[in-house]
Amino acid sequence: MTTGQAVLLVFVLLAALAALLLWRLARAGRARSGLPRGEIVYGDTGEWMAAESLFAPRYRLTGKPDYLVRNADGLVPVEVKPGRRAAEPYEADIMQLAAYCLLVQATRGERPPYGLLRYEGRTFRIAYDATLENALFDTLDAMRADAQRSDVPRSHTDPVRCRYCGLREDCHQSLVD
Ligand code: SF4
Repeated sequence: MTTGQAVLLVFVLLAALAALLLWRLARAGRARSGLPRGEIVYGDTGEWMAAESLFAPRYRLTGKPDYLVRNADGLVPVEVKPGRRAAEPYEADIMQLAAYCLLVQATRGERPPYGLLRYEGRTFRIAYDATLENALFDTLDAMRADAQRSDVPRSHTDPVRCRYCGLREDCHQSLVD
């Protein structure tokens, strides 16, 4: 497999991350997931930088956080979800942010202490601890296993997710035409 193909594969894997996560976490239950709910932060300080794409061959993982913030705590990835309003962060968004933390650690040699998840009107600070890191590795393993299957069921009943899904054109389980 060429590097380009590997990057494309990982992009597809990340795109499927949200769907798989919701399915798995719904089954396991939030209470048993051990994932952080996130702490709301009210100010963003530090130096904000537009982030470039990050690629970690060791983990066969690539991604591009919306920003990297250099502050007193270290180097922090930021994911922005414009228009999303929720009292708690979505599990899939937490895992996406965890992937960015791993990418920052792998490419910059600095382990982010947390990531920031910015929704409409509030920002959550998600600790990048061992529990979240292990959950990320488990999820990546499960995704790669599922990538070998041809019968992975849809994980949700939300047409809105399908409407904005980048895989809709090729998905035979889409809830919208
Ligand atoms: S179109 Fe819907 S069911 Fe298909 S991959 Fe996207 S979100 Fe999942």
